[in-house]
Amino acid sequence: MGRLMRRLDALMQDSDVPGELTRLYLSPAHAAAAARVEGWMREAGMKVRRDALGTVIGRLAAVRADAPVVLLGSHIDTVRNAGRYDGNLGVVAAIEAVDRLGGALPFHVDVLAFGDEEGVRFPVTLSGSRAAAGTFDPAALDAVDDDGISLSTALAAFGADPAQAACAAYERGRALAFLEVHIEQGPVLEAERLPVGIVTAINGATRLLVSVSGQAGHAGTVPMGLRRDALAAAAEMIVAVREVGSAQEELVATVGRIAARPGAANVIPGEVEFTIDVRAPQDGMRHAALSEIRRRMSGIAERHHVALTTGRSHEAAAVQCAPWLQERLAEAVAAEGVVPRRLASGAGHDAMAMAALCPVAMLFVRCRDGVSHNPAETILEADADTAVRVLARVLTGLQAE
Ligand SMILES: [Zn+2]
Repeated sequence: MGRLMRRLDALMQDSDVPGELTRLYLSPAHAAAAARVEGWMREAGMKVRRDALGTVIGRLAAVRADAPVVLLGSHIDTVRNAGRYDGNLGVVAAIEAVDRLGGALPFHVDVLAFGDEEGVRFPVTLSGSRAAAGTFDPAALDAVDDDGISLSTALAAFGADPAQAACAAYERGRALAFLEVHIEQGPVLEAERLPVGIVTAINGATRLLVSVSGQAGHAGTVPMGLRRDALAAAAEMIVAVREVGSAQEELVATVGRIAARPGAANVIPGEVEFTIDVRAPQDGMRHAALSEIRRRMSGIAERHHVALTTGRSHEAAAVQCAPWLQERLAEAVAAEGVVPRRLASGAGHDAMAMAALCPVAMLFVRCRDGVSHNPAETILEADADTAVRVLARVLTGLQAE
């Protein structure tokens, strides 16, 4: 096993829960992982610092101090009972790529290991990448975890200075690009037998909470034609969501949670609540799907004589990866003898926040069965190596400009 995979295995030791990988933002395990990553950065010739949000930043300095900077990296926090590659791969692969450069470039190369991508500990997310991009909202410092500890207190305990959050931002115009390597977390590359793929966009997402209100009644005495069955109506609505989501290749629509009341075998359901999650690489596509879903749902509600209300619980715009960076990645992928496959990202990433600062691009690495957020997460060493070589090629290519 090569160094990159050994390092990813070593990071498994930094867990808040023995016997599994759980590494929450600003926890003791996060501190241990940050220290480990700093050691590897120094070994690769980088100068290391931490910013106000606890992001570890290693810099391979250019000869000229006033040179612009190219940013690489991903996150080292994890979900509970996580796999070892989500986030961590992007940090370790970036360090590996820097190590292979063999010297300074005409720009600084910063590798960033963000600490808050998964948003598990605090009701905030992307704190590190938002701060680096200059869009961090200081009100988030008051967010508290389940133990009542505020983000601000946790940062201080981590050795960071939350008062300096505004200074964590890179100077606009100095950052040339942000490049993130990440496992695909989906089955596309595996199905097409490709080790890596080039991300075109990070999908925008809308989440709705739908309430259907009918009339509860006796399951034995109310004739079918006189019922106002909220669950029967909701069932048709769920089918409609699936149909709309299936109508276009890059669109996805999901009903992930449903609750029916009163919830008894002999009672017609009077009240139903369910969620809808719609994602697409273009905001226009997502908005069109949402209006089609709403249109169909009102028709269904009318036929069932039930009332329908929908509320929006989450909204994130799609982020486009820079076409010129996609092109650079595609050339580097082709140079590795791999067909450049472009695909959208269904999951959110730090690159989403970094897009507020500079052009972003992502390289996906194939993962087994599309599984992530799960200890069963698996990648091939050869695929990770391909990603490192692609990254190094893109960096040296930028040098030629
Ligand atoms: Zn991730």
